[in-house]
Amino acid sequence: MRIVITGANRGIGLELVRQYLAQGHSVHAGVRTPERSGELTALVGPSSGRLQLHACDVASDTSVRAFAAAVTEPVELLINNAGVRSRPDGLEGLDLDDVARTFQVNALGMLRVTSALLPLLRRAQGAKIANISSGLSSLHDNTSGGAYGYRMSKAALNMASRSLAQDLRGDGIVTVAISPGWVQTDMGGSDAPTPVAESVSGLIGVIARLTLEDSGGFFNFRGERLAW
Ligand code: NDP
Repeated sequence: MRIVITGANRGIGLELVRQYLAQGHSVHAGVRTPERSGELTALVGPSSGRLQLHACDVASDTSVRAFAAAVTEPVELLINNAGVRSRPDGLEGLDLDDVARTFQVNALGMLRVTSALLPLLRRAQGAKIANISSGLSSLHDNTSGGAYGYRMSKAALNMASRSLAQDLRGDGIVTVAISPGWVQTDMGGSDAPTPVAESVSGLIGVIARLTLEDSGGFFNFRGERLAW
């Protein structure tokens, strides 16, 4: 498979690259700052040409357009993984600029990248789009409040996933939102229960089993359906 992964220089994105390369796939890895992507760059040589690293700031139209132009070949799988956590917020002292910045990356970034890569996804047979969401996006499960920017941006990503699923079904493209669980990364922190390798092998298994019937769904990394 030819796979595109955003936010690939650390955390879940980097581990997705590692595991897909180990399975023999080819990866176009998008990173915001290539010169700060040492661990990913170290994988390029041993990949024998299967890993290509590109600049891709998902918050920038110009950067995403250049990224899509550099990929050029059909894409069987797009994983919209790049994401940011908004600043800790409460109702007092809400930082709406930070909320908007979080939206720009988590919600609009996914749509920007997907739209730019659409011709390449359509050229593949039965492509898949996996949008990395979060349990915190769930309206149903929100019993603790707060995290306005993060929750709202990931709920917007979920809604866009549903629309993409409808709009791209005729092209045979499967689109889902997937939560990776609470994972030991810079974002998840060291208290998180799930090692990154376990979350990622779960995500890869769930993505591999997706069919058109699953399109528009919201899953976790164990393949269980989540409540919106
Ligand atoms: P990290 O903070 O470890 O990594 C985030 C990645 O996103 C980095 O590679 C970062 O790049 C990249 N990124 C941020 N902004 C941009 C941008 N504008 N353009 C391109 N790349 C960008 O987080 P995780 O690996 O934990 O998170 C990956 C995904 O999983 C995110 O979407 C997150 O919301 C989601 N998630 C994570 C959970 C967890 O517990 N860890 C729980 C639920 C969801 P850079 O190094 O340049 O900042």
